[in-house]
Amino acid sequence: MPLAQIERRAEEMVLHGRINYAYRRQREYMHADRTWGARHAGILRPRPVAYFSAEFGLHESVPVYSGGLGILAGDHIKSASDLDIPLIGIGLFYGQGYFRQRLDLTGWQQEEYIETDVTQVPMEPAIGANGEPVTVRIDTRGGPIFSKVWRVKVGRCDLFLLDSNVDGNSSEDRLLTSRLYGGDGRTRIRQEILLGIGGFRALKAMGITPGVLHLNEGHSGFALLEAIHNRMQDEGLNFDEASYRVSQEVCFTTHTPVPAGHDRFDAGLIEEHLGPLRDLLGISHDRLMELGSEYGESKQMFCMTVLCLKLARRANAVSSLHGEVSRSMWARLTMANTGEPVRIGHITNGVHVPTWLAPQMYRLFDRHLGANWAQHSSEARIWEGIEGVDDGELWETHLSLKSRLLEFVRRQAIEQAARRGEAPETLQRLGRILSPDALTIGFARRFATYKRADLILSDIERLAQMVGDPKRPVQFVFAGKAHPRDEPGKRVLQLVAGLMRDPKFADKFVFVEDYDIDVGRHLVQGVDVWLNNPRRPLEASGTSGQKVVLNGGLNLSVLDGWWAEAYDGLNGFAIGTGRTHLNTQMHDDRDAEDLHRTLRDEVIPLYYHRDRDGLPREWIKRMKRTIRTLGWRFNADRMVMDYTLNGYIPAAGGTSCQMNVNL
Ligand SMILES: *Cc1c(COP(=O)(O)O)cnc(C)c1O
Repeated sequence: MPLAQIERRAEEMVLHGRINYAYRRQREYMHADRTWGARHAGILRPRPVAYFSAEFGLHESVPVYSGGLGILAGDHIKSASDLDIPLIGIGLFYGQGYFRQRLDLTGWQQEEYIETDVTQVPMEPAIGANGEPVTVRIDTRGGPIFSKVWRVKVGRCDLFLLDSNVDGNSSEDRLLTSRLYGGDGRTRIRQEILLGIGGFRALKAMGITPGVLHLNEGHSGFALLEAIHNRMQDEGLNFDEASYRVSQEVCFTTHTPVPAGHDRFDAGLIEEHLGPLRDLLGISHDRLMELGSEYGESKQMFCMTVLCLKLARRANAVSSLHGEVSRSMWARLTMANTGEPVRIGHITNGVHVPTWLAPQMYRLFDRHLGANWAQHSSEARIWEGIEGVDDGELWETHLSLKSRLLEFVRRQAIEQAARRGEAPETLQRLGRILSPDALTIGFARRFATYKRADLILSDIERLAQMVGDPKRPVQFVFAGKAHPRDEPGKRVLQLVAGLMRDPKFADKFVFVEDYDIDVGRHLVQGVDVWLNNPRRPLEASGTSGQKVVLNGGLNLSVLDGWWAEAYDGLNGFAIGTGRTHLNTQMHDDRDAEDLHRTLRDEVIPLYYHRDRDGLPREWIKRMKRTIRTLGWRFNADRMVMDYTLNGYIPAAGGTSCQMNVNL
């Protein structure tokens, strides 16, 4: 827009006043005193926490995330800012992000890669201690890799993103950070030395010496080797002494029980990329390989999770059940320095409330939970106020969010169909799909096969009956991406999306393309029920259901991940009893049966049981119970407080008087 037009529009929209208001609010936020961090985390002030993560999901406009891991990292840094914890994020800038998902006429996933216009992303070049833009150099046996660094302000916290698209790099290396989880093992290890080693060097170049290293998943594990090298240099220590010191300062969070989720590299790749650093560390190739090998055999692949577990004094899983699974997974591992068994505790994931809570619901909480409820959202007592809310008011608020969701889905469905070149009648029909009166079930997640997006399809006749029931209809909104190389995942996606074309399901079954934070936000705020049916115990935690809780939706989930510790019999619905079966087919069959039964016997009757005012009183009771019992626990403030008291402060050499979560 030309400037004059911008000015005219700004005037029309009373933009100056709105911007000034936002600016004042932001100033107040930045300068608040007596924050939780000021009172509890003073020890971290001189030497902050460096939080490494391969992805950060802050907002859909900064596409450097693919899914749960990234959203978690984004929520973590936002809560660290809210609480005023000295924490700096370190990640990579992916110029093309993950990918944009489009389905073709057969429902097959197509990936589009679009270059992000860096001038439109809220970031700027990071400036070093010398006043110049920071650049980082990493030597490999095959030559150096260079990187520049971007700085993103996340409230009080900084997030630094390394970007290999710089002069001096080969054309291949300039593309190194262009895509998230693209490329082969070689691309992957080069991204990971940038993240870990490059990230640590970038901090040094900016004059920042972290007091704690928090590695969010193993991708950034090489940071430990660089930290050891740094200590050897600065303090004249040998490798063993330095690695012992460093291990005391490290918190490592492991995120998945799925074997493919743990990066492994062969010895050749390790030597090529870590050789020069290994020379500086003064250790042999075998010794290095041993650090990443489960059984101490140097012939093995080098596993990043093993490296982190062997060198981190504090390690945790992301839910109670995942803690048990992780401990048995890594039972034979011993610490590199002391030879003691590796210990893994757990801190259950949570979500950043202001990010995921709908504004309408936020205002309702403002009216009923007391002033400053948002600053105390990790305290159970704050949420008790929800029981006093008028049933009608809560239900009306939910219905308005639901209708926003349905409009959003119709808009998306029309756009998608138009892009595929579908007939005008189809587009018109899509403008009328989905009913505000029907029980609406949402399902959005990666189409990894263990998440079983097609479980509900296992009995297609029963599903058709349910959807077509004239008195008590059920409708579904699906979304999610399959990894570009995951053919089985894409087939499941095609099957699910294909229902949209089946006359028995048309109008009642919609697949929304390109699941991202924007799509996710609409879904979690507007559904009646959130469906989650992974193959237990493969879902480490899951967080999307926690976003639904805040907005008054009810979870219908197998007892896996966070739900295994959240469900109390009345704050949502459970599929099955938490049993598993060694035979996958039997396991899936039983879960499918349980899913259909729970829908038929519990969910649908409860939803359609209305009183004279047309209100589903028993349903609303569950909505209140889910908000009251879960809102404070599965909350990123609570999560970051746990990390601070049980991880960061002890790692920085302080003592914590809080409960021990066995980190
Ligand atoms: C919350 C969220 C996730 C993670 O949720 P899961 O329950 O782990 O599937 C993934 N993608 C997006 C866009 C999200 O908002």
